[in-house]
Amino acid sequence: MRQARRLVPRGMIRFKSLGSGSSGNATVIQARGGASLTHLLVDCGLGIRELDKRLAAAGMMADQVDAIFITHEHGDHIGCARQLAVRERIPVYMSEGTYAAIGQPDFGGMLRLACDGAAIDLGGLEVRPFTVPHDAREPLQLTCHDGDTRLGVLTDLGHVTAHVEQALAGCATLLLECNHDEAMLRASTYPPFLKRRVGGAYGHLANSAAAALAQSLLAAGRLRQVVAAHLSEQNNTPELARTALQQAIGGAAEIHVADGRSGSGWLSA
Ligand SMILES: [Zn+2]
Ligand SMILES: [Zn+2]
Repeated sequence: MRQARRLVPRGMIRFKSLGSGSSGNATVIQARGGASLTHLLVDCGLGIRELDKRLAAAGMMADQVDAIFITHEHGDHIGCARQLAVRERIPVYMSEGTYAAIGQPDFGGMLRLACDGAAIDLGGLEVRPFTVPHDAREPLQLTCHDGDTRLGVLTDLGHVTAHVEQALAGCATLLLECNHDEAMLRASTYPPFLKRRVGGAYGHLANSAAAALAQSLLAAGRLRQVVAAHLSEQNNTPELARTALQQAIGGAAEIHVADGRSGSGWLSA
């Protein structure tokens, strides 16, 4: 078995956003190792019927999901995680803080605790969670590695820390929060407290901050693709997010923008 696996070309991570932003986040990550596929579902921020529908549209059934990773307790991420994990008997990973924040519900034996820096081995995929500054109890984002290619998932953070940059070093592809355009947020009808929250150090990442991170990862490593994610419907446009990234990394890396409701197509990491 092991010998056969070495003959398979590496870099076989594919992923698809099933939806991105405040209306609900879910991303499927698929790794091919030999004849077997490993599927990780990152976040379940939809109703279970809607998630089933979007998985089916992606050519998948929920029972093909090998593990669920929940980044934090906000409703647009946790969604139907418990229902899905219990229904399909899928292990669901989250931090102890996230579990406490949702009131420690019964996951029917499927709960697995995750923490910063502790690798999770899913067979064909190694998941490495890392902490981010966001207004949740113990939020984690993650990288996925199949032995060759590294994919980073980074949504829901107020600012980029040295720890975040270090965790993402070596990523070929990044699903990256481009939440708002700073001028649009300033001019928006949001009440002042919400503007402060979204634009603050524990809120969401502005296009400019996302672009700066992409630029520094490009200079330092092997970044070759960025998918803008978690765009605000009120305070951003796909064009503004794309332009910000284009100015920072255009020509050197491919850029996609995930749609709030339809997400993205299947992409290779
Ligand atoms: Zn969110
Ligand atoms: Zn959040």
